[in-house]
Formats: sequence, C-alpha cells, structure tokens
Amino acid sequence: MSDNQLRLVWIYPDLLSTYGDQGNALVVERRARQRGLDVARLDVRSDQPIPTSGDIYLIGGGEDRPQRLAAERLRRDGHLQRAVENGAIVFSVCAGYQILGHEFINDLGQREPGLGLLDVMSTRGEGERCVGDVLGDIDPRLGLPPLTGFENHQGVTHLGPTARAFAQVTMGRGNGTGDGTEGAYNGTVFGTYMHGPVLARNPQIADLLLKLALDVNALPPIDDRWYEALRDERIAAAQQPA
Ligand code: GLN
Repeated sequence: MSDNQLRLVWIYPDLLSTYGDQGNALVVERRARQRGLDVARLDVRSDQPIPTSGDIYLIGGGEDRPQRLAAERLRRDGHLQRAVENGAIVFSVCAGYQILGHEFINDLGQREPGLGLLDVMSTRGEGERCVGDVLGDIDPRLGLPPLTGFENHQGVTHLGPTARAFAQVTMGRGNGTGDGTEGAYNGTVFGTYMHGPVLARNPQIADLLLKLALDVNALPPIDDRWYEALRDERIAAAQQPA
C-alpha cells in the first residue's frame, strides 16, 4: 500500500456479480474506512483494462457463459497475474474461484484455461448441483472464526499439491470432492464457493484481506455483534435435528 490509500479493485461487475457480490466490495471498503483508511474503489468492467496497482482485488460468481467470457478477457488482459506477482491480494468467489485455477469446464462443455493463480483444477460434477447452507472451520493457520455461507455450483474443484484448503466444511459440500475441503489459497490468492455475500456474513475474512494489505497482525476492533449473532444463529440452525 502506498500514500496511505487502499486501492480496492472489483473485477468485472458486468459479468461476475450474480450473487450479490457487490456486498463483498462494500464490506471491505467500509471496514477499511472504519479503521481510518482512505479507500479508492475501482469497479472494472470487462471492456476495461485491469489496473496493476491495486492492493486488493475481488472477483465474484456468475453463470456459466459470463464465466467463460470473463476468463477469456482476463487471460487476454494479463494484468491480474502481474498484480499478483507484485504482491496483490485476490479474493474470489465460485465462478471467479474456478477462473483463478488452471482450468474449468465451460458452458460449451469444453476445458477452458484459467489464470493459474491458484493450484486448483475444476471439473463438472456428475451428481446433483451443490446448493445450500455451508458451515466450516477455516484453516487454523489463518486464525479466523468459523465460516458460514451459501453455495450454488455444479463445478467440483480439486486441489493441487501447492494449494491449501481455505476451510473444512462441517455442513455442505464445499469443493465437492467429498473430502470436506472448501475453497483454496496460494499465498495471497484466495478462492471460495461461499456466497452470502461471503464477506458480509464473515467480516473476519474482510479483515484478513485488510491485514495482508497493511502488513499488520491486528486491526482496531469493530462492533461485530450483529455479524456474530447471525453466525451463531446459522450454527444453531444447522445443529437442530431435521
Ligand atoms: N458456473 C459455475 C458452476 O456452476 C460457477 C457458479 C457460481 O458462480 N455460482 O460451478
């Protein structure tokens, strides 16, 4: 971060914002401002170049066809890879998560190359679409409270040897591989299947992104009782017998 200004880039709201993903940008922006940071938010449409000077990049979920278009344009643009080489932080959801991996199956049933920023590979699940509430424990290395969210995807994502699972689900399907893993990360590039929008439901993850951007271990606390009540309610609901 330079000039005490946090540069937040929301990638392709015209293609990848089907599931209220704007909420993720709003939450990061607001929590940064609550800590006294100056925030410049840039919403980059798919006909515009991606800036390489961002600190945090957000990329959302989408339907299969917009997902293919977004992957084509991001590959052609090439700037997100450059930003990551320079240390940028990327947080991606569902379709965005699949695009950041090595490849996924597109709407034409073909193998579509991703950006290779995450060591993951997505295939098309043979079974039922993964839809429903999810609870999980985030990788203890990241030191965050439990994850809650909602998933809706057909893709199944396999982790390569260098990727770490973002979380282990205690309810729901996550990556859909049957091993309980949910999402993945490599360094400062994160992917998850959680909608919600995920950062509104899990502000601790927004703070993780801010801590990485600021290179600090802690941030001034915010009154999060409302979020915590929602999380406790989801966890209690999941524990109710059906
Ligand atoms: N099209 C992808 C899938 O079904 C991603 C869906 C999404 O972003 N929710 O796996």
